[in-house]
Amino acid sequence: MKVLVLGSGVVGVTSAWYLAQAGHEVTVIDRQPGPARETSFANAGEISPGYSSPWAGPGVPVKAIKWMLMHFGPLVVRPKFDPYMALWLAKMLRNCTSMRYARNKARMVPIAEYSRDSLKALRAEVGISYDERMQGTLQLFRTQKQYDGSAGDIEVLKHFGVPYELLDPNGCIKAEPALAHVKGKFTGGLRLPNDETGDCQMFTEKLAALCAEAGVKFRFNTTITSINTSTSRIASVSTETEELTADAYVVAFGSYSPFLLRRIGVYIPVYPVKGYSITVPITNEDAAPVSTVMDETYKVAITRLGDRIRAGGTAEISGYDLTLREKRQATLMHSVGDLFPKGGDLAEASFWTGLRPMTPDGPPIIGGGTRYSNLYLNTGHGTLGWTMSCGSGRVLADIISGKSPDVDASPLNISRYG
Ligand SMILES: Cc1cc2nc3c(=O)[nH]c(=O)nc-3n(C[C@H](O)[C@H](O)[C@H](O)COP(=O)(O)OP(=O)(O)OC[C@H]3O[C@@H](n4cnc5c(N)ncnc54)[C@H](O)[C@@H]3O)c2cc1C
Repeated sequence: MKVLVLGSGVVGVTSAWYLAQAGHEVTVIDRQPGPARETSFANAGEISPGYSSPWAGPGVPVKAIKWMLMHFGPLVVRPKFDPYMALWLAKMLRNCTSMRYARNKARMVPIAEYSRDSLKALRAEVGISYDERMQGTLQLFRTQKQYDGSAGDIEVLKHFGVPYELLDPNGCIKAEPALAHVKGKFTGGLRLPNDETGDCQMFTEKLAALCAEAGVKFRFNTTITSINTSTSRIASVSTETEELTADAYVVAFGSYSPFLLRRIGVYIPVYPVKGYSITVPITNEDAAPVSTVMDETYKVAITRLGDRIRAGGTAEISGYDLTLREKRQATLMHSVGDLFPKGGDLAEASFWTGLRPMTPDGPPIIGGGTRYSNLYLNTGHGTLGWTMSCGSGRVLADIISGKSPDVDASPLNISRYG
């Protein structure tokens, strides 16, 4: 089958890989000059099925107010006249009940676990390297209240069979020796030993090269301007200069997925939640993290990527705005400087922002199920697109190939929104 994959972020490229492995003739199209140049470019590098949870949960509306008022706070909402923003926020608030949280989390964990396992299998098969590490992730608590509050999270981890270690300060230092320099600043941590880390952009670039070797064609610097339909099928897509046809079409445009779909009557509740990262060159190996440390107070994930420290965080609801805001950089600098003061040269930090493609309930949208029989979606991965990418690409390729995926993908279908 001839398949057009629209978008070459980590989700589009993993889709292309598994489709090509299944024997399809695949072309990937992207407006950027190379793969992973938008949201997949400089994320926090966590592959964390253990933390795959929806943002919408019980207590979040109250916490959100506290976060917005905090100095170095992790949440910013810039209200604007945007009906899609209002609708998305309303839907997200509706998902903040215990029952919906449990249902949404139960939809996210299987695809995230499957994804990590698929990534492992891919690594074993093709030997791809991307500054990867398999040393777990550590959620670091600065207050006793946070430490005690982890009991709720632990119940959830137990329920889903996720291995964990609740650590005292010495246990944290054993896992992350550089924290010995700042002992006294934290009360303990929750470590998920099965989580991994790695550079998403490096991975996507390398996988795209492997895709090309396997026969996948890439067309960069090419913007899709419309999706063209004929009754119940997609007939073609248009670029600025030509019309392209295929048997099947995969929309993997990340946060930009709703735009062209809307014009053909397909509504998906994906909205951008902006985040920021800094990348800092390591100056002292012994004073840098060995894996991911999640600073629970500021919700900043600090990850070791080769000879760099990447720190990512902030949820800013401000539409499709890519302005780099100094105040957000200050939060990231504060968290890294406070926990790893001698690890890297903050004066040399590079600053980046990206738009997480978030659904209001949390799980991504994977599969067909629209009114067009040859249209497939692989989008809405929010905070976990790197974590879920391989599994999502593999599941989608199975669906398009008429095979039953290894995990039940029906709860991830667009039809869940009615
Ligand atoms: C600060 C931050 C930290 C994060 N940390 C983590 C983390 O630690 N772990 C994790 O799992 N996830 C993390 N994420 C989330 C993760 O980065 C995203 O979920 C993931 O990158 C989304 O990938 P994607 O392929 O769907 O979107 P993208 O990477 O944005 O790809 C979409 C592609 O579509 C293309 N496109 C869009 N419209 C058009 C058009 N009309 N024509 C042609 N091309 C088009 C774009 O150019 C782009 O290349 C983080 C995100 C942010 C912002």
